[in-house]
Amino acid sequence: MTNENVQRDGIRVEVEHIFPIIKKWLYSEKEIFLREIVSNASDAVTKLKRLISLGEVKGLDLTGKIRVILDKDAQTITVTDNGIGMTEEELKKYLCQIALSGALEFVEKYENADTAAESGIIGHFGLGFYSSFMVSSTVDVITRSYLGGSTVKWSCSEVGEYEIVTDYTDEDALIDGHGTAVIMHINDEGREFLNEAKLREVLAKYCAFMPVDIFFDNVSEADQPADDDAKKKAEDAKLTPINDTTPLWLRQPSEITDEEYKDFYHKVFGDFRDPLFYIHIRADYPLNFKGILYFPRISNEYESLEGQVKLFYNQVFVADNIKEVIPEYLLMLKGVLDCPEMPLNVSRSYLQNSGYVSKISAHITKKVADKIVSLFTTDRENYEKLWRDLKTFVEYGCMRDGKFYDKVKSALLLEKCDGTFATAEEYLTAAKDTHENKIYYATDKTAQSQYISLFENEGIEVVLLDRVLDTQFISFLETKLDGVHFARVDAEVADAMKTSGDAPAEMPEVAEIFKTVAGEHTKIEFQSLKDESVPAVLTVSEDSRRMEDMMKMYAMDGASFPVDAKLILNADNALIKKINALRETDAARAEVIARQVYGLSLLSQRKLSADELKDFLKGSYDLLTLL
Ligand code: ADP
Repeated sequence: MTNENVQRDGIRVEVEHIFPIIKKWLYSEKEIFLREIVSNASDAVTKLKRLISLGEVKGLDLTGKIRVILDKDAQTITVTDNGIGMTEEELKKYLCQIALSGALEFVEKYENADTAAESGIIGHFGLGFYSSFMVSSTVDVITRSYLGGSTVKWSCSEVGEYEIVTDYTDEDALIDGHGTAVIMHINDEGREFLNEAKLREVLAKYCAFMPVDIFFDNVSEADQPADDDAKKKAEDAKLTPINDTTPLWLRQPSEITDEEYKDFYHKVFGDFRDPLFYIHIRADYPLNFKGILYFPRISNEYESLEGQVKLFYNQVFVADNIKEVIPEYLLMLKGVLDCPEMPLNVSRSYLQNSGYVSKISAHITKKVADKIVSLFTTDRENYEKLWRDLKTFVEYGCMRDGKFYDKVKSALLLEKCDGTFATAEEYLTAAKDTHENKIYYATDKTAQSQYISLFENEGIEVVLLDRVLDTQFISFLETKLDGVHFARVDAEVADAMKTSGDAPAEMPEVAEIFKTVAGEHTKIEFQSLKDESVPAVLTVSEDSRRMEDMMKMYAMDGASFPVDAKLILNADNALIKKINALRETDAARAEVIARQVYGLSLLSQRKLSADELKDFLKGSYDLLTLL
C-alpha cells in the first residue's frame, strides 16, 4: 500500500457553520445534490474535450462517460467521470477554496431568508459540490488529472475536517486513466436516495439532457437479478445511457421531423395527446438561448391552464415554471428553454428587473405572436379548427401584455353560433346592412336559443362567448376597438328586428296588466317586431347584467343590484292584441294570458327562481282551467 502519505486539515473555522445550514435550509430540495455532482462530472468531461479540440491535448481520443453507482451495502452513491481530473494542488484550490467560497456565498443568501422561497435562488442553482453534504456524512473525492501524476484521495467529514491521501491506489478502478470519482457516504437524511427507483427518478428530472453519456449501475447485493435472462437484461441496460446528449432544442429545425417534435413532447411532458403546434426558438447573440414551446391541447377550459415550461442551464434542468423568467401567460404552454446566459444564482427580484430577462420575454412573445399570425394568414382553415383550443391562451395573453395584443390582434377570431368564424372586422363589415359597431353575442347557445333565432332570422350574426374569460375579454376589446360594443342577445332588441315605420301606439291598459304580473321594477315598452309569432321579449341592459355577473363572480354577498329589466311587448302579435281586446270584457282572463306570456319570456331568458317557477306553474294550471 502506498496510501500512507496522509495530510489532515480542517476547513477554515469560520465556515464550519455552513454544513449545518446546508442541511437545515436545503432540506426540502435535497435531491439537487445529484444534479450538482453529475453536472460537475459533465463539466469535467466537457473541459477536457475542449482542450482536445483546441489541440492542447494530443493523442487522446475521448468518449466522455459518467457513471452513477448505487451501493446499498456500502451505503454509497458514487459519481465517476473520465474528465479533466484534478492534481493535488487543484483539488485543494478547487474544493477547499473555490467550491467552499461559492457554497458560502450561496448559504449567506439563504441564511438571511426566512423560507426557502424567500432565499431567491432559483432551483437552488449554484450551491455546487458542497450540496453533497445534504445527504452525506463523508464525501470522498478520488481524482487523477489528465496531465498524469498521482491519484489523490480527499475525504471530508460533515464537520468540515478533511484528509488527503496522495499516491492513492484506486483498487476499485473507479478512474479510467484520468477523471474523478465522488463517493458520497449517505447519512440518515439521504436514506431515500439509496433506492434505485428514486435515484433514477431524480436523474431523469435533472440530468436527462446533459451533454455527456450517463450510465446507471446498481451494484447492491440484494438487487442483483436472479436468473440469466434478467441478468442479461440488466447488463444491457447498464450499457445504455440514461440521457439524451443532443436534445432536440439544440438541433437544427430543418433537420427535425414533425414526428420527432411530437415524440419529444409526449416523452418529456407525459401528455399522450399531440400538441396543437410548436415553436422552435433559437436566439443568437446576445440573448443566446434556445427552446421549444408547445401549445398543449386543452380539453376543457379548466384543465391544464398551468402548463409546464422547463428551464435549463446548459442542458442541466433547473426548475419548472419560473415566473421571473417566463411571461406569466406563457406558463400555460409546455416547453423547454435553455438559457446558458441566465444569471440564476441571483435573487428573484433581480430577475424581475433584469434587462436580459425582459429581452428573453420579449423575444418569446414575438415568436409566439408571429407563429399565431402566420397560422392565421397561411392556413386559415386549420387555424379555425384550432381556435377553440387556442383562444383562452391568446385572450389571456392579450389582456396581460399590450404588445402581445398588438401583434396578434389581426388573428383574433370570434366563433359564431352557426359554427363559423370571423374576425371582429369581418363581423362588422358583414353586419353593415343591419347594424353598426355592435357585436351581438350569446353566452349559452341552448338557454338563449330563442333570442339567437330572433337575431338570426333577421340576418344578424350572433357570436358565441361562452368561456369564463370571455366576459373580461370583451370589456378589454371594447377599450381597444374604437366605438365597438358587445351586446348579449337579451340586452336589447336590434333595430333590424323591428318593422320600419312609426312606433306602435301605446296600450297603457295592457302595460298596466303586465306591470301587475311582472312587478313594478320591470319597464314595459311596445314595439312592432317583424317576427309576429313572438308576443314578448325580456331584455336586461348589457351594463347592468355585466355588473350583476361581476358581483356573482366575486361572490359579493348581500350586494343586490337593481336589474335593469325591460319587457318588450310586440304590438303586432296576436296574443298581445287579444289581451288588449279582452281587458274590458274579461279582465281576469286577460291577466291569466299576460301572466303566461311573461312567464314564457322569463323562461327563455334565464333559469327561474323557486318562487318564479311556482308562479309559472300556478299560472299554467290557471290557464288550463280556462280551456
Ligand atoms: P462550480 O461547478 O460551480 O464551479 P462546484 O462547487 O461544484 O462549483 O465545484 C468547484 C470546482 O471544483 C469546479 O469548478 C471544478 O474546478 C472542481 N470540480 C468539481 N467537481 C469536479 C470533477 N468531477 N472533476 C474535475 N473538477 C471538479
